[in-house]
Amino acid sequence: MAIATINPFTGETVKTFEALTDTEIEQKLSLAQARFLEYRNLSFASRSYWLSEAANLLEQERDRFAKLLTLEMGKPLKSAMTEVEKCALVCRFYAEHAAQYLADVPIQTDATTSLIKYQPLGVILAVMPWNFPFWQVFRFAAPALMAGNVGLLKHASNVPQSALAIEEIFTRAGFPEGAFQTLLVGADKVAAIVEDDRIKAATLTGSEPAGASLAATAGKQIKKVVLELGGSDPFIVMPSADLEQAVQTAVTARMINNGQSCIAAKRFIVAEAIADQFIDRLVEQYKLLKIGDPMSMDTDIGPLATAGILQELDQQVRTSIQQGAKVLIGGQAMLDSPGNFYPPTILAEIPKGCLAEQDEFFGPVATVFRVPDLDHAIARANDSPFGLGASAWTQDKTEQERLIQEIEAGSVFINGMVKSDVRLPFGGIKRSGFGRELGREGILEFVNVKTVWVK
Ligand code: NAP
Repeated sequence: MAIATINPFTGETVKTFEALTDTEIEQKLSLAQARFLEYRNLSFASRSYWLSEAANLLEQERDRFAKLLTLEMGKPLKSAMTEVEKCALVCRFYAEHAAQYLADVPIQTDATTSLIKYQPLGVILAVMPWNFPFWQVFRFAAPALMAGNVGLLKHASNVPQSALAIEEIFTRAGFPEGAFQTLLVGADKVAAIVEDDRIKAATLTGSEPAGASLAATAGKQIKKVVLELGGSDPFIVMPSADLEQAVQTAVTARMINNGQSCIAAKRFIVAEAIADQFIDRLVEQYKLLKIGDPMSMDTDIGPLATAGILQELDQQVRTSIQQGAKVLIGGQAMLDSPGNFYPPTILAEIPKGCLAEQDEFFGPVATVFRVPDLDHAIARANDSPFGLGASAWTQDKTEQERLIQEIEAGSVFINGMVKSDVRLPFGGIKRSGFGRELGREGILEFVNVKTVWVK
């Protein structure tokens, strides 16, 4: 894929970039390695100061950065602003908490002193997607940099200006040169970079094929990997749910980021007793969504990030319809405008074996399944290759307990939508990946947990 900013609203190619040459990649790798040897010995206080400065820059220049995100991948400007603010939050969170998460932990044994020490691993490669161009990177970078690692970013090829802006933020914040660098390279260069001895671990957020490919290369080199991959999160609604609240949240949970979020609610699993009410209200709410220019503050749904994503989504819906799924609203790409627009869509009455049963729809397309009871709801929710998040709505304590216990996913949210929170670990199981970001577990992914024993 060419490295370029292509405005998803107009189709215009705004700016193109040459990929780095092998010599330039080598220079950046050796700078990163040289920097690590010094950076790992710096105090938490220095790192924390620079990370707080990064947060200040994000807050002070929020609107400029937000416009860049919207320009490159089409998310509504108001969501882009929220994303930039959340990046400032994750910087502040780790600036404040990293020292405590990584403090030595004394453990009593037969030694005079025995303890656990957390030390940085080295240069970490981050391969990142375009859907939250700032957030995905900052949630990796803030803990990694606080732990004393240095970062190399290979961002998605359609968000090069966001990638460069992130490097600029860390540089202006005062981090030493080379502590965080952007590599403008295509996916074809990733394997060779992972194989390089100076890279000690890698994290990838993106599709299953990309994750599997990176993990295979890293596995051969015995290198640690964190994978945050796709999802098809269930959103279960039981009869005792607050229906008004559930419907409102359902719309947000499916439509966030124009439907292009790994943890978007994608499969609505609704108890038969309230299914008609829920579905009717959901359709009504969908009709109210304003589709249009993502730079307008009153737009709810902007264009999809690329023409390729639009084509793929359109094909998935067409196939599902051919296989018997019924369209309640939407269902056809909006080809009369130059932007990559796809309307809010709901598919119901999905037959067994239909593509819509198992595939991830990375756009504003919801699927609805009716179930007679909780047993069927849980079985339906778990009948997926993915296991990222799950949202379930019920006031019944016994049902809540069973959902918490039996849902196969990295997170379960009861009476709320799945969202990432800097204080809580985030990640999946099954084909959604492994490893965690955020919280204490997130910062511990890229450290050497060193056992120390002294007699
Ligand atoms: P993608 O094609 O996998 O791209 C993600 C990143 O991986 C990009 O930087 C891409 O580079 C790179 N890449 C692609 N193929 C690669 C390969 N064979 N080896 C190494 N790197 C490779 O992902 P996408 O389709 O843009 O993103 C959507 C997917 O990401 C969805 O499945 C979504 O659910 C998932 N996602 C997951 C999370 C999570 O936290 N679990 C968050 C966001 C998105 P190029 O751009 O140069 O191709």
